[in-house]
Amino acid sequence: MKIRLGNGYDVHRFGPGDHVILCGIKIPYHQGLAGHSDADVGMHAITDALYGAMAAGDIGRHFPPSDPQWKGAASEVFLAHAAGLVRDAGFAISNVDCTLICEEPKIGPHADAMRAALAAIMGIPVEDISVKATTSEKLGFTGRGEGIASIATAALVQA
Ligand code: MG
Repeated sequence: MKIRLGNGYDVHRFGPGDHVILCGIKIPYHQGLAGHSDADVGMHAITDALYGAMAAGDIGRHFPPSDPQWKGAASEVFLAHAAGLVRDAGFAISNVDCTLICEEPKIGPHADAMRAALAAIMGIPVEDISVKATTSEKLGFTGRGEGIASIATAALVQA
C-alpha cells in the first residue's frame, strides 16, 4: 500500500485586531494576525502538509497572494481544495497532526473545537486530527509575542 507524508510550516505576525482565527476557530485576543487571507496559520500549515504529501507545490502556488480574490479569504477554501486534490488522486487522509507555537493565546481550551472544525472541512473523523500547542520559552519571534508559527504533518494512504 502506498503511503505519502507531507509537512507544512507557516508564520503570521500579530497586528491590529481583537481576535485571531486558528484552525477555523475565532479566539478573542487583544491583537489580530496580519495576512492576505484570514491569516489562519494553523490551517495554512495543514494545507501545505496536504499539498506537500501530494508533491503538489504549496498554498501560494494554488492561491497566489497577488490575486485580490483571496484577500480576506476564509482559509477553509484552501484546506478544502487541498483535501479535494488528495481525494481526486485516489488517496485518503490517514491522520493530521498540527502544532501551534505561541505564548498566547492559550490553545488548549479550543483544541477540540479546532479538531472538529478541521474534520468537517477535510471530511475525516475527528479522531484522526490532532491539534496541540507549545511555547518557545519566550525565545525568538514567537517567544517575544510577535507572531504565531505552526507546523503540521499529514499522512495519506491509497484509498
Ligand atoms: Mg499563511
